[in-house]
Amino acid sequence: MTYTIEKITTLIGARRYGNTDSNIGFLLTDSRSLCFPEETLFFAIKSERNDGHKYISSLYDRGVHNFVVTTVPDDYEKRFPQANFLRVTNSLEALQRLAERHRDEFNIPIVGITGSNGKTVVKEWLYQVLSPDHFVTRSPRSYNSQIGVPLSVWLMNDDTQIGVFEAGISQPGEMLALRDIIQPTIAVLTNIGTAHQENFTSMEEKCREKLILFHDAPVIVYNADDNIVSQVVDASDYKGERLCWSCKDSKAPMFVSGIKKGETSTTVCYTFKSVEGSYTIPFIDDASIEDSVVTALVALQLGLNADTLKARMGQIEPVAMRLEVKEGRHGCTLINDSYNSDINSLDIALDFMSRRPDHKGRRRTVILSDIQQSGMAPADLYREVGRLAKERGIERFIGIGPVISDNAELIDIPEKFFFNSVSSFLDSTVFRTLRDEVILIKGARQFGFDQITDLLVQKVHETVLEVNLNAVVANLNYYRSFMKPETKLVCMIKADAYGAGSVEIAKTLQDHRVDYLAVAVADEGATLRRNGITANIMIMNPEMSAFKTMFDYDLEPEVYSFRLLDALIKAAEKEGITGWPVHIKLDTGMHRLGFDPEKDMERLIDRLKHQNAIIPRSVFSHFVGSDSDDFDNFSARQFALFDKGSQQLQAAFSHKIIRHIDNSAGIEHFPERQLDMCRLGLGLYGIDSRNNHIINNVSTLKTTILQLRDVPAGDTVGYSRKGKIDHDSVIAAIPIGYADGLNRHLGNRHGYCLVNGQKAAYVGNICMDVAMIDVTGIPCKEGDSVEIFGDHLPVTVLSDALDTIPYEVLTGISNRVKRVYFQD
Ligand SMILES: *Cc1c(COP(=O)(O)O)cnc(C)c1O
Repeated sequence: MTYTIEKITTLIGARRYGNTDSNIGFLLTDSRSLCFPEETLFFAIKSERNDGHKYISSLYDRGVHNFVVTTVPDDYEKRFPQANFLRVTNSLEALQRLAERHRDEFNIPIVGITGSNGKTVVKEWLYQVLSPDHFVTRSPRSYNSQIGVPLSVWLMNDDTQIGVFEAGISQPGEMLALRDIIQPTIAVLTNIGTAHQENFTSMEEKCREKLILFHDAPVIVYNADDNIVSQVVDASDYKGERLCWSCKDSKAPMFVSGIKKGETSTTVCYTFKSVEGSYTIPFIDDASIEDSVVTALVALQLGLNADTLKARMGQIEPVAMRLEVKEGRHGCTLINDSYNSDINSLDIALDFMSRRPDHKGRRRTVILSDIQQSGMAPADLYREVGRLAKERGIERFIGIGPVISDNAELIDIPEKFFFNSVSSFLDSTVFRTLRDEVILIKGARQFGFDQITDLLVQKVHETVLEVNLNAVVANLNYYRSFMKPETKLVCMIKADAYGAGSVEIAKTLQDHRVDYLAVAVADEGATLRRNGITANIMIMNPEMSAFKTMFDYDLEPEVYSFRLLDALIKAAEKEGITGWPVHIKLDTGMHRLGFDPEKDMERLIDRLKHQNAIIPRSVFSHFVGSDSDDFDNFSARQFALFDKGSQQLQAAFSHKIIRHIDNSAGIEHFPERQLDMCRLGLGLYGIDSRNNHIINNVSTLKTTILQLRDVPAGDTVGYSRKGKIDHDSVIAAIPIGYADGLNRHLGNRHGYCLVNGQKAAYVGNICMDVAMIDVTGIPCKEGDSVEIFGDHLPVTVLSDALDTIPYEVLTGISNRVKRVYFQD
């Protein structure tokens, strides 16, 4: 389904400049995701921190001819002779209007889903139960924002019979726009939780905001047993059909009369509009059961009969939300995406892959299975797959499955291979010769692609540190919310990104346009460059022996003393370098490193003025105690000293010198001192050092139970018989020890980890590679997962028990612990 540019001009009420004929099939809001330039309409959106208009010129050079703008570029006829500019007052609203007009074209059931949890699961399960006999268009992954919803609705086309879209909000006022775009015929509220609560004054307020989605919907679906939700619905003037569910009220339209949990499955009995039924799902957790009730209710309302529902609910599959990045064997990096295999999520995964730079030369490979239940004719589907892969620079394509193999000739990639099954691929030379490539692995579940991943990942150790890249971005945005849009940001990724792994973190931060990355030593900077990081990099502890590395890799050193300054100038002059940017550190009270702002400024300025090898790009200092109110007076003194010294430096130069002093705690506590730039460290990793709270948890250290044994009262566990057992106990051994960074002082019941959500104390001395924990009374078996710290056990619990700070625990995780990165 395409629209002419003329039609779009009318639909969004724009004024058009330029008169090239075009047909538009793709909408673009982020220039980095460009795929099909000729058919793309780019919306130049102005946000607090960025302005899409900046990218017009480069997009034009890449073949994009159609732009929605708020300002038409000067001289547009000369500079962009083939372009159309559609001028509007607000580009985001224009995008939303266009999606709304597109939505108006459809007179079909549209399910709009909101709620704090479970939106994506309900959406995917609805897709799973409905798609065998309906063409369902749904939001890809969790595209549920002010931009994601219009892009999702745009995906509906002539074939679409049912639309299922998520609506997510993070602040008041957002739902109204989403309602107009989705215009649900069935509006679903999964539940109300505490996510994004910081932007709402109460749960009721958030609930009312969510219910805006419901206002004109003919049917609404919600949980009648939730008091807040029921009260808000009762208090509203909603006039349509209230299709609520309840486990208590037998008169509810959907009465859940019984929930029977077994070992691995749960049976739910219900009465829907006075017809009885039941189904069994292969899950036993409460969240899945609740999500299944919502799914069943909506599917029944859409006319699925009870028997078909029952059959399909038995087959529903877990929804993997994560794109994982793992180190593979033979120099490969694996991007593993087990999200339902479909064309839109393939597009997103390819986009993710193409945005992560790679050091030169590694080719990009895709391993893809048949895409099932797409509703498209195979020829169209695989032609599209080939087109996407080609546009994203895929050099090697491996297709697995009978259908994709039959359509091999539609995929126009130089190196391509096709196999009927995973096992024939695993037996092939192609598999054995995978080397030095970045591989996207994406397969429908029934193909069992985990066999491929298992064989390709480097298995060293069963202990892993999982790093949540979404949380890194959420923390970044949290701290940015205290900053003015124009304030620059340095992200501190020293000490291997506080243990999270600097390369992958740097890729994510670069993708989110931070101004600077800072590492401790030149070698860390060189590693980033070799891995394709092009952002500005600051070196906090430049060693005298590493100047050459800095020049070779375009790294900007901090300068804190005259000795370092002189050596650096000499080294730069020797290389014939001029104007190398450096960062001047002033000591305002830490008394660690830095020039004295009261005594050294004149001499420093004099030295800098009488050479041209280096140039001060920024000047900074560091707070001693921004994390505690106790030091507020001292911080004020530090700031005053810095202010004076840095102004003095600036006054001596005609170019702008960036001034910065706030670290993470400072950004929150003294936003008025943000100056030109802030330095974000611990906060990025989710820890608020002012109160030891977790903002969004980034790192989770996990291991597994190796062995379980019964130990009778009176025996001891571990070296030196330290772990005395006073009643009959069950002891588990886990493969993590002090050599992995598990502090030995946690032993002898000074600390605990979590086994299936329950606390298990460390028993006896922690060994080098293994620790023993007390799992008496905790249901568990060998192979079960153990959380050392992370999503459910804040790292601050460990640092408190150890009488240290979270920085030390995080940076102590040794290199042999594999880092696994994921993103929703
Ligand atoms: C590490 C570091 C930071 C970051 O501090 P956080 O407390 O982790 O935010 C800022 N500035 C300098 C100079 C640092 O060394």
